[in-house]
Amino acid sequence: MVVELICVGTELLLGNIVNTNAAFLSEQCAALGLSNYYQTVVGDNEERLKGVMKTAMERSDIVILSGGLGPTKDDLTKETAAALLGKKLKLHEPSKKKIQDFFEKRNITPTENNWKQAMAPEGAIVVENENGTAPGFIIEEGEKALILLPGPPNELLPMFEKSIKPYLKEKEPGIILSQTIKICGLGESYVETMIQDMIEKQENPTIAPYAKTGEVHLRATARAKSEKEAKKLLKPMTKELKSRIGGYIYTTEENVTLEMAVIDLLKNNRLTLTIAESCTGGMIVSRLINVQGASDVVREGLVTYSNKAKRKYLGVKKGTLAKKGAVSEETAKEMAKGGVFFTKSDVCIATTGIAGPGGGSEEKPVGLVYIGCNVCGKITVKKYQFGGGREKIRQSATAAALTLLRQCVLEHYSKVTFGKEKKEK
Ligand code: ATP
Ligand code: MG
Repeated sequence: MVVELICVGTELLLGNIVNTNAAFLSEQCAALGLSNYYQTVVGDNEERLKGVMKTAMERSDIVILSGGLGPTKDDLTKETAAALLGKKLKLHEPSKKKIQDFFEKRNITPTENNWKQAMAPEGAIVVENENGTAPGFIIEEGEKALILLPGPPNELLPMFEKSIKPYLKEKEPGIILSQTIKICGLGESYVETMIQDMIEKQENPTIAPYAKTGEVHLRATARAKSEKEAKKLLKPMTKELKSRIGGYIYTTEENVTLEMAVIDLLKNNRLTLTIAESCTGGMIVSRLINVQGASDVVREGLVTYSNKAKRKYLGVKKGTLAKKGAVSEETAKEMAKGGVFFTKSDVCIATTGIAGPGGGSEEKPVGLVYIGCNVCGKITVKKYQFGGGREKIRQSATAAALTLLRQCVLEHYSKVTFGKEKKEK
């Protein structure tokens, strides 16, 4: 079933308010397994509103409108919908009573235009508004339906939850089941090319990639009559993704984060970890310590920001810093080596880079980061070039460090090999 959204309001067109209703409704409809191909924002203008409503009704099964149900003259969604469908507006007694009570309670005399909200298109299902005076409406037209909702989010959201969602569920019965496949160490476009044919052929389940800092998530969504059937549909897709993407997938569980997967991996291999951070300044250790049970793994977290600290706590050689600089492959290597040596842990992950905005040069631009990983004496150093501002560079370096750590441990203990990495820009 195809659903379409129309958000009404000149305020939206002028950018005076953010269209949060569209975001909410889209997310809800997607979760219900409804297809949504079009969304329109239109001003408070009868003719243009009628035009978009007509087009929407022609190409979609359900058209959801937000806004323009209030008492003022520029609120004309209901009137326009009724006119388009050739329906008269009739007084809806319960709504009238509600408005009466509302004003009586507040000891205010309603103005004439307040009664406008008690009018309903004939034959429409009147949807109660528990947080305002303007009711919503469902106007059915053959197999199709127009759903009119009030603009204020504190009215629209509960109304959708309580009345519209059950209505839509009844129209499109069945369940929706999603599975997220989380990937680290490959860029979004690279992942997309790996599964291009699957994206092109997708039907049920559907598959969609989402990029996160340093990660790519693939969401596979199946629609079926029962959960069992949906799981059966998802299974071959997950299997195919695993066979194509392999070790880069760190989890297929919705609630598992990269840091959780890393802690788990180290714990399963009985490894202790030291984190030696320069440009990431504690971000890696912070993400890891967020994980319950991190104490079994994390031994020490050192923020060695200055050259002096790199020498003092990690034994980085004075000559290395002088000749190669703090941001260099050699420094990262010595940091990773010293981290294990001085703290007597099994593994050390070390970062050194230029987070900017200053401090870059042609040879060593802002965003250049070296990450060293020492797994039981085997040291791997990788060079990265990240983009974005200081915060983004630090976040990217943190995700890359967790990824490299995971890969080095897997290569060492599980003989999984990595080599297809596309460096994140
Ligand atoms: P009212 O009875 O308040 O006039 P209404 O149904 O006529 O409600 P609008 O007049 O279109 O709705 O909008 C009222 C208020 O609701 C706006 O000023 C804005 O704060 C909020 N609003 C409207 N549309 C949206 C939207 N798409 N996203 C987020 N907020 C919105
Ligand atoms: Mg209004």
